[in-house]
Amino acid sequence: MTVTVAIIGSGPGGFYAATALTKEIEDCRVDVIDRLPTPYGLIRAGVAPDHQSMKKVSARFEKTAQDPRVRFLGNVEVDRDLTLAELRSMYDAVVIATGAPIDRRLGIPGEELEGVFGSAEFVGWYNAHPDQRELAPSLESGTLVVIGAGNVALDVARMVAKTGDEVRVTDMAHYAVDEIDVTPIKDIYIYARRGPLQAAFTHKEVQEFGHLERAIPLVDPAVLPPEDIDLTSKGRGNQEKNIALLRGYAVNTGDEKPVKIHIAFYAMPLEILGDDGRVTGIRMERTELLDDGSCVGTGETFDLPCNVVVSCIGTESTVLEGAPFDEKRNRFVNADGKIDDGLFASGWARRGPTGTIGTNHPDGVAVANMVMELTPDPAKTGPDALDALLNERGVRVVTFDDWKRLEAAEEEAASHGAPRRKFTSIDEMLDRLG
Ligand code: NAP
Repeated sequence: MTVTVAIIGSGPGGFYAATALTKEIEDCRVDVIDRLPTPYGLIRAGVAPDHQSMKKVSARFEKTAQDPRVRFLGNVEVDRDLTLAELRSMYDAVVIATGAPIDRRLGIPGEELEGVFGSAEFVGWYNAHPDQRELAPSLESGTLVVIGAGNVALDVARMVAKTGDEVRVTDMAHYAVDEIDVTPIKDIYIYARRGPLQAAFTHKEVQEFGHLERAIPLVDPAVLPPEDIDLTSKGRGNQEKNIALLRGYAVNTGDEKPVKIHIAFYAMPLEILGDDGRVTGIRMERTELLDDGSCVGTGETFDLPCNVVVSCIGTESTVLEGAPFDEKRNRFVNADGKIDDGLFASGWARRGPTGTIGTNHPDGVAVANMVMELTPDPAKTGPDALDALLNERGVRVVTFDDWKRLEAAEEEAASHGAPRRKFTSIDEMLDRLG
C-alpha cells in the first residue's frame, strides 16, 4: 500500500529525506512543500554566491524532484495556507525540515539601530532571498564589524571584501553586486569572543582570505598560540591548519592591499553605539578564556567607530503550531528524528543549526527508516487531499516544472559569466509564470 509523506522545507534537510524515502520505499508518494517558489533552501539562499561548487548537490535533488513519486509544491506556507494538523490528517508521515532561518539576537543595547543586521538577513540580502531584498544595508561608509567566528562570519566578510568583478561572476543578487562594487569599506573587523584555537570557522574558508583581489587579512601575532604547541593529535587537524594560516596572515602589514580584514580574538560586544537612530560604533570588552573553554569579560573595554555591524552568531528555527519546540536546544523536540507518531524532523529542525550540507544526509536516511516501519492508512490520500485543499483556498502552487521555467529565465538573463541572474521577489516570479 502507498505510504504518503509530506516534507515541509525543500532545503538539504528536506531533499535528503525525499531522496532517502524514494530509495528505501518503492510504493511512496512524497510531497516537498516550500513557502518560496524556489527549491533548495540554503543551497540557493545561504551558501555563499562564490561557492558555486557547493551548490552542485542541487543536481542530485533535482533528480529526486523529477521522480514520478515526488512533487515540489512551492509558494505554499504552513501556518499561512494550511496547518500542520491538516497535513498530518492527510499524510501518513510529515517531516519538518524548516531549517533555522531567524537570526539569534546579541541581546545588547543598540541592536535595534539602523545599520545593524543579523547574518540570515545580510546573507539573504546578497543571495536575493525575497524576504531580504528591501534590506538595503548602506555599505557607503568605511568600517564593517562582523561579530562571530563561524563560517558565516567569514562568508559575510569575504563577500563585502571582494571587488565588483569578483562578485559579478557569481549569482549574487544584482543589487548587491552594484553596492559592493562601489563600497568604500576599507576595514572589516571579524570579532571572535574566544581564541584562535576555539574558532568555529574552518581552514578552507580562512584560506580564501589569502586570495582576494583588493583585501588582505591581518592578525595580531600576540593572540596566536605558542609556536611549539602540538596540534598534531587526532581531531585537531582543522585547528592546526587554521593556526598555520593565521600565522601567515600575522606577518601582513596592511599596506599590501586597500581593504584590511582584521581577524580579531578575545573580544565581545557590549553595546552598539549610535546617533540619530544609526550605528556609529561598537563598544567591545576584552575577554579571557576559562579552563572549561568558555570566556568571560575582563572589564577592559574599547570603542571602535563603524557604520555597519553584522552579527553572525547563529540562527534559530521557526516554530510551527502543533510541534513541540525545545527553546534551549534550538530545535524541535525529537528523539533521533522522531517528534511524534507520524511526525519527524530532519536537518537543522532536528539537530539545531550546525554542520555542512552533507551532514543532513544521515537525517534523511533516518527518517526513511522510520517511515518504512509505518502502516499506511488508506484514508490518508496525501497529494489528492492536499490538492483539493489548496485549490479550495486559492493557493497558487509553483510546481517543479514552473521552477524549471524560472531557472531557465534566470540562466538566460545572466551576464559576465554569472551562472544566473536571480529573481529577487515572489511577485516577479509569479508574474513570470503567468
Ligand atoms: P557557528 O559556526 O555556530 O558560529 C557562531 C559564532 O558566533 C561562533 O564563533 C560563536 O562563538 C559566536 N557567538 C555566538 N554567540 C555569540 C555572542 N553572544 N557574542 C559573540 N559571539 C557569539 O554558526 P554559523 O557561522 O552561523 O554557521 C552555522 C553552520 O553552518 C556551521 O556548522 C557552519 O560551519 C556551517 N557553514 C558552513 C559553511 C561552509 O562549509 N563553507 C558556510 C557557512 C556555514 P563561540 O564559539 O564562542 O560560541
